[in-house]
Amino acid sequence: MNAIIVINSGSTSLKFSLYAIAGDHKLALVCRGQTDSMIENAHFVAHNPAGEQLGRHEWAQGHAIDHKAALDYTLTWLEANNAGMKVVAAGHRVVLGGTRFEVPVLIDDNVLTYLGSLSAMEPSHQPFNVLGVQSLAAAFPGLPQVACFDTSFHRSMPSVAQTYALPQEVRDAGVTHWGYHGISYDYISRQIPKFAPDARRVIAAHLGGGASICALLDGHSIDTSMGFASLSGLPMATRVGDVSPGVLFYLLRTKRFTPESLEKMLYERAGLLGLSGVSGDMRELETRTDAMSVGAIASFVYAMVKYTGAYTAALGGLDAFIFTAGIGENSVEVRAALCNRLSWLGVKLDQKANDRHGPRISTADSRVSVWVIPTNEEQMIAEYTLALVGRLAR
Ligand code: ADP
Repeated sequence: MNAIIVINSGSTSLKFSLYAIAGDHKLALVCRGQTDSMIENAHFVAHNPAGEQLGRHEWAQGHAIDHKAALDYTLTWLEANNAGMKVVAAGHRVVLGGTRFEVPVLIDDNVLTYLGSLSAMEPSHQPFNVLGVQSLAAAFPGLPQVACFDTSFHRSMPSVAQTYALPQEVRDAGVTHWGYHGISYDYISRQIPKFAPDARRVIAAHLGGGASICALLDGHSIDTSMGFASLSGLPMATRVGDVSPGVLFYLLRTKRFTPESLEKMLYERAGLLGLSGVSGDMRELETRTDAMSVGAIASFVYAMVKYTGAYTAALGGLDAFIFTAGIGENSVEVRAALCNRLSWLGVKLDQKANDRHGPRISTADSRVSVWVIPTNEEQMIAEYTLALVGRLAR
């Protein structure tokens, strides 16, 4: 049976999902897995759709592997464990499509060179996404590969939301409020009619290791909190979120940081980790009672309160609010804290439903309905890939 492989290649991890293409062009997840901690204690794990472990491998302690080695291991494992599956196309998560790509695109050398050139704008994901494409091309020459962009979904934002107040020549260099997590928001926007068919003005919060919030009008993005790079907006696990640009000049001018160490600090030591001083992991923070950990969660919720107010104004009101991704799907505490702060909007939390993780966590008489909807970026990428490759094949 033909299959699509979905790759999400990050700085220290390489995630994959294999989807079988059924006769009616429906996609069915066969297995998923990842190689994690590639720079120190690399290990591979694969699961079936029910979450049962199918395979595991650990490289020697302290042994670093590169993306090509992780991908080679993945492909060899897939070949040995999925007899009869023929990979006919690959879909890649690529964070930034820049000015050239507003929709998924079939990758050739020219496209890849352009995507690589965008790494200077988004250094935390883009170079590793490109590396994933290159590694797969080396292993599977001639395999159609599709780049699916996190920025695409936000190109529907009105120009006032996409434009920074900078001189024209600076904006012409590609300095745009791109917005990220678009693959996830596209998936969520397609789920909304199933849960809240009458909701036109919706705010969705993708709260994972990276976190953002998005205003959706009739299923289209009209604003989102991550801007030029995936660094602004809400405080994240280790990324800073919104910070005054004056802070950056001050830290450079007083030589506390070089440009490189400043960037590293803002991506890797800030956010929830910076605020708590102990961890960027929400699950861990929720078990702690020290003032800094409690304060970190309070700051996270407060940032969401502010964005929700702003986006409710941009939308002209609010019909539904959606939580998704690791924190959004699992943190009873964060959801309750935000909903309680939104009582001015007519949000009424159903505590028992919140404890059960929804899907609806607001009471029947809540003026705004509130939902927990699991995201599925891999499924979305497989669908984009099938649509594009299928169209080209016809
Ligand atoms: P990534 O962006 O890396 O894909 P995820 O979407 O998996 O991240 O989200 C990871 C975040 O979700 C972490 O902060 C983790 O602590 C949090 N999380 C996962 N499960 C829970 C839980 N039960 N309670 C609170 N937070 C959780």
